[in-house]
Amino acid sequence: MNIEVATQQMSEKGFLDITLDARLDLFAEIEKLKKEKNAIVLAHFYQEPDIQDVADYIGDSLGLAQKAQSTNADMIVFAGVHFMAETAKILNPTKKVLLPDLRAGCSLADSAPADLFKAFKEKHKDHLVISYINCTAEIKALSDIICTSSNAEKIIDSLPKDQPIIFAPDKNLGGYLNKKTGRNMLLWNGACMVHEIFSLEKITKLKIRHPKAQLIAHPECEEAVLQIADYIGSTTQLLKYAVASDVQEFIVATETGILHQIQKDAPQKTFIPAPPNNNCACNDCPYMKLNTLEKLYLCMKYELPEILMEENLRLAAKKPMDRMLEISRAAGLIG
Ligand code: SF4
Repeated sequence: MNIEVATQQMSEKGFLDITLDARLDLFAEIEKLKKEKNAIVLAHFYQEPDIQDVADYIGDSLGLAQKAQSTNADMIVFAGVHFMAETAKILNPTKKVLLPDLRAGCSLADSAPADLFKAFKEKHKDHLVISYINCTAEIKALSDIICTSSNAEKIIDSLPKDQPIIFAPDKNLGGYLNKKTGRNMLLWNGACMVHEIFSLEKITKLKIRHPKAQLIAHPECEEAVLQIADYIGSTTQLLKYAVASDVQEFIVATETGILHQIQKDAPQKTFIPAPPNNNCACNDCPYMKLNTLEKLYLCMKYELPEILMEENLRLAAKKPMDRMLEISRAAGLIG
């Protein structure tokens, strides 16, 4: 398929569907395009290993947001999901922001439709809204402060104890934070399909078979899994903890993409993905895995699909993001 036809079909398919010559060295071609176009590739830890290997920066939502804001590159190629690329555009609007596949969405972001959330917020006018970064630009615009799993606790702690708070959209992370901070935040009923799927029963059996292994879990997991976890943290925190710890074996309850980086950083240790409660690979995020090296190359070459945003929405969504970055900086979480 040629570029004209692929562009016409892009809104339906979500990406440029062009067949590439199998002999093309995509790693070398992507490096060439980076130089030619002054482009930076930002990748989330949940991306496939090849994408992580060509990325200029690999991180979780907080690190990626900070990198997207500070980069001097003219083009940000975002290997992650739609709300993350939107976040890059919100923070750095003069840059061209590309996403290899527009269908790379997020079940958690989808669980908070803006109209329903607006109505909910109006019922609780005295509440301040803290939203997890995994939400659409529309939900960000309806929020007072954005947080990530790395900084959520510090952000909540920075508010007066008697301040009523709505936390959206992740009920599992919200519940965990309520416990950690001693608050009683009102929780929006959203969840991530990947982190909800872990089987307590199978993890418990795995722990019996690997008595020396520690269970490390992302706070988007259900409470029952968090209760038996040895360590709970954001993707970056899990990685740092596992690398620094004396323990040699870990059961990892988050998306499996993290295993690539964690195994690179601690090659002598054993990492076992926590099993989902069925036989499929449901702890792979199907949205994250829509991006491929081929799509990444094509989107850099043809500069499509691009993330565009109406300026009023961008400005409204930026305000709570700026507050997050300010509080994170004051707390020493970022430089
Ligand atoms: S892992 Fe969950 S929260 Fe992350 S992008 Fe996938 S669906 Fe969304």
